[in-house]
Amino acid sequence: MAVKTYSVKKDGSTKLSANFTVREFACKDGSDAVKIDLDNVAVLQKIRDHFGKSVHINSAYRTVAYNARIGGVKDSNHTKGMAADIVVSGVDPLKVYLYADSIGAGGVIYYPNSRFCHIDTRKPKVRLITLDKKTYYAEPTNSLKKGSIGGGVKWVQLMLKYAGYVLSADGKFGATTVAAVKDFQKKHGLTVDGSFGHKTKAKLKEALM
Ligand SMILES: [Zn+2]
Repeated sequence: MAVKTYSVKKDGSTKLSANFTVREFACKDGSDAVKIDLDNVAVLQKIRDHFGKSVHINSAYRTVAYNARIGGVKDSNHTKGMAADIVVSGVDPLKVYLYADSIGAGGVIYYPNSRFCHIDTRKPKVRLITLDKKTYYAEPTNSLKKGSIGGGVKWVQLMLKYAGYVLSADGKFGATTVAAVKDFQKKHGLTVDGSFGHKTKAKLKEALM
């Protein structure tokens, strides 16, 4: 972690990387001091280079007071200068999530309804989807199968939906989910067992990238 503190007034135009300046990371409440994790800037620059499109930072550093005012989670990584909510011009934020995941970013959160992606440098890594900014569904790290329930199943179901499957994301690994997983496995040369394990997950993410 390489968090540095800058002054927007003094360092606003200072370049942190080829495409990012200090000013872009400032708190929206007008505070002069801004904390920036240069490791996160490096990830953002990789994203910028990969897509070749401008990256707009909706929100990066937040003072504790500002974070509380806008309803951010307590101890948010934004208050430590470790996080940025970004929109890549003309790019589906799902693709930003998948790319940030593939390059090993710390925390990656996909906000499908607000159309942005949160990137941070936390450890251990997390991969989340939230539809309402209240409930977060974590990408499963273990194998899921018929009868599994919970947030991991919801993550799988949402990803299957993004891949074009028609199913309800209810967090229950039932017959419809099994059928979708089997169809996906068949089309991608995987063992057709209807279980969602490591190989199926990797292939699904690859297909959506
Ligand atoms: Zn965020």
